Amino acid sequence: MIGVLVEEDKLGKRAVVILKGFPCSWGKCIFCPFIIEQSCRTSEIITTNSAVIKQAIEVVNRQQIDRVAVFNGSSFHELPFVSIDELTSVSEGRIFEIEERSEFVNRRSVVSLLKLLRPRKLIIRIGFENYYESVRNDYLRKGIPQSEILRIAELRRMLSEEGLPVELWTYVLFGMEGISEESVKYSVIKFKEILDGVIAVKYHRYLPNHPEESSVSKDLAEFLERECNLVDWGGEEWVFGGEEREGGEEKGSV
Ligand code: SF4
Repeated sequence: MIGVLVEEDKLGKRAVVILKGFPCSWGKCIFCPFIIEQSCRTSEIITTNSAVIKQAIEVVNRQQIDRVAVFNGSSFHELPFVSIDELTSVSEGRIFEIEERSEFVNRRSVVSLLKLLRPRKLIIRIGFENYYESVRNDYLRKGIPQSEILRIAELRRMLSEEGLPVELWTYVLFGMEGISEESVKYSVIKFKEILDGVIAVKYHRYLPNHPEESSVSKDLAEFLERECNLVDWGGEEWVFGGEEREGGEEKGSV
């Protein structure tokens, strides 16, 4: 679902801006729901996004929202530049969150984004999903080797030393058949040691060829609520042109 959503939770009040994007250049994760809304038509993407960004500008100004998260179903760097440029109207001076696959994240790309977007703080969410390489790559097909996690951890350390207003967060996926609760807990603990934030994302099955959902124990739910910056259980209220309606949307995981 494309549009603007206003959320208020553990992260505070924020506008969530869902844009249309090109297909993810990786495109192999076994649970990816984003293909439903991606497009290969550049003009359609630019036109749709311009309308959504216009709405986002109106919402953040009217409601004086200081934090904005942008999702486009692939990496932020895979948006048309026109859309990225238009987003400067909502990023400047605010806490601004985006999603990237890790291969788009290095010192140079981060500094370029800071110059262009001029946020008060830039939060880059990366979908590592699980610390265990076997779960992440053999099962989920994320295509992210362990060395990449260590590179991002080192980058985070360097950026922090430089005092740049950037934080690197990750998603951890739970509630999917084939991912044990033990591995979810271990992932949260390990990622908390090396990154700035962890968001746990409850898996929802959107397509018939996707893995089954699994139940979530009370013990895991309490652990995640205690240890993570946010637990995304899915399902939220959407705001379209001033109207509100219920909707469920899988977020994150680039
Ligand atoms: S990296 Fe993200 S957007 Fe790309 S295929 Fe995997 S889940 Fe989908």
